[in-house]
Amino acid sequence: MILGEVEAPIFQTAAFGYASAEEMADVFAGRAPGHVYTRLSNPTTLALERRLAAAENGVGALATSSGMAAIAVTALGLLRPGDEILTAKGIFGGSVSFFRNILGRLNIRAVFVDGSDTAQVAAAVTPKTRAIFVETIGNPGMDVPDLPALGALARERNLPLVVDSTVTTPELVKPGQHGAALVIHSTSKFINGHGIAIGGAVIDTGKFDWSRGPFEDIAALARRAGAYAFLAHLRTVIARDLGACPAPGSSFLMLHGLDTLPLRLKTHVENARALAQALSTDRRVLDVGYPGLPGSPYFERAQRLFGGRAGAILTLRVGSLAKAFAFINALKSARRAANLGETRTLVIHPASTIFREYAPADRLSLGVPDDLIRVSVGLEDSSAILTDFEQALTVAQKE
Ligand SMILES: *Cc1c(COP(=O)(O)O)cnc(C)c1O
Repeated sequence: MILGEVEAPIFQTAAFGYASAEEMADVFAGRAPGHVYTRLSNPTTLALERRLAAAENGVGALATSSGMAAIAVTALGLLRPGDEILTAKGIFGGSVSFFRNILGRLNIRAVFVDGSDTAQVAAAVTPKTRAIFVETIGNPGMDVPDLPALGALARERNLPLVVDSTVTTPELVKPGQHGAALVIHSTSKFINGHGIAIGGAVIDTGKFDWSRGPFEDIAALARRAGAYAFLAHLRTVIARDLGACPAPGSSFLMLHGLDTLPLRLKTHVENARALAQALSTDRRVLDVGYPGLPGSPYFERAQRLFGGRAGAILTLRVGSLAKAFAFINALKSARRAANLGETRTLVIHPASTIFREYAPADRLSLGVPDDLIRVSVGLEDSSAILTDFEQALTVAQKE
């Protein structure tokens, strides 16, 4: 804080100047506080990192230019050629292709398992495994991993559990409380909340002892940096040189989103529950994926882990690709768009968009049949959303 400002100002500057060469050398070496260059750190972004770390009860955070950048720096910070990462299926399409294409090029193998089946995850651990990756609620798989059981497994095998909590946010669950070492967010979604900026973050929960983990370089750093070892590794080696820094103006927008997150999520979740309930009793809908529905196989787990608030993303199946397109085209107020967590209700057809690069059988194994529609339920009046979906189902029936 400089002038008693209540809101964090935007430090719209690339570099920070110093009075002497000695002072600058001290800041560069971390011997004196300060910033050097916005690719490395920036006061607005630092304010966001502190807020996110506090929200997850973590030891610190690194904000990035996008959610994918947070996943990339985390994976590249942990993994080397020859290593394996165990990952849930039914997760975000960008994460699937990052794990397959980019890690694959580096000879790092991503092993896909059913993340909601802890026994299956345990059985897939090999001496090469270096991390376990899941989403709190699979997007679009809509499955809920048993975080405490995975946390116990990770502790037993001395592996960091990495949890992408984008669709739940710290408002619904703090994965660190269940043993996650690192929490990932795409802040582009509910945290920003208004669909007006792209960003991401990785938070170290302090639950993993980096001095004793299977990562030699990070263990060496832990002697100096203690609990900050992984974040120091990202800041001084990985993220710094990948250049995945957020723009200060985006960090500013994320800070504003965090201010209203509890209020917005309350309505998002209420609206999602009402829509899921209405769709689940409509015989034109073959299946509704929403862990907050009593009929969901993940209902009990979502009650326990998220205090009964199972997020605001749901999926529905309408029987065929043609019906899915007809339904999406018939919606009047919901928008056809790729984002989620905005104020408006958004729908997307995952098979023809996010997952279009995969063969049909591959898509099915990733939990994406051709008639699946993903909905991010917005803040509109609940009955208006129901009316819109109802009339679109009537139109889709004619296909
Ligand atoms: C959107 C999303 C990402 C990627 O975030 P971007 O900010 O779009 O790069 C990662 N994980 C999940 C669960 C997401 O929904």
